[in-house]
Amino acid sequence: MGDLKKSVYEANISLWKNKLVYGTQGNVSGFDRDRKIIFIKPSGIPYENLKKEMIVSVDLEGKVIKSKSNPSVDTIHHLFLYKNIPDIGGVCHTHSKFITVFSIIKIDIPVLTTAHADIFGKKIPVSEYVDNSQDNIGKTFIKQYNKTKCPVVILGNHGLFSIGKNPEESAFYAMMAEYCAETSFYAMILGKIFNKEILPIEDSEIKKWFDRYHSERYGQTK
Ligand SMILES: [Zn+2]
Repeated sequence: MGDLKKSVYEANISLWKNKLVYGTQGNVSGFDRDRKIIFIKPSGIPYENLKKEMIVSVDLEGKVIKSKSNPSVDTIHHLFLYKNIPDIGGVCHTHSKFITVFSIIKIDIPVLTTAHADIFGKKIPVSEYVDNSQDNIGKTFIKQYNKTKCPVVILGNHGLFSIGKNPEESAFYAMMAEYCAETSFYAMILGKIFNKEILPIEDSEIKKWFDRYHSERYGQTK
């Protein structure tokens, strides 16, 4: 395994560079399943001041291991997802702008583009509002995830959580979900203005794009 602390640091910075986070909000973590250690953004540190050394390591109970900073206040939700979803190695949380709009209107983001079909192959679900006490957020994510298998779940009146095989992938899903939210938002608004019905891509076509993107044939041979 490479330098997971560095991956977590870089994935957090990628949220900031892609304008998916504001102030000190948002966070990415990574899980070393062999050593049972989670690396996560420290609480209350602005991204411009974030350094790799500040990334906090905690055990599965949330106990800090040799770090001066406190971990993100959202650590409890990350831990719940690692404990309850096998094989994931990254979790990301953002309040990015267009995702938040969908979290308010509580409409699942429909598959309107091939880019959305490629990455997710399904609607991005929105849950009801839940407060942040105990396991509420984690349980709500898993309920939606079990129903849809979508690696991104939008929490009502809040923002998104995403999961991936590593921190980079969870942050990538957060970025692509924001892209889908923004394009869908404008299309839906313009559809209203021009009185044009906005229809999702047909299911069989969505599957075709998704399968191609997730097949061995896509990208460069390693
Ligand atoms: Zn939040």
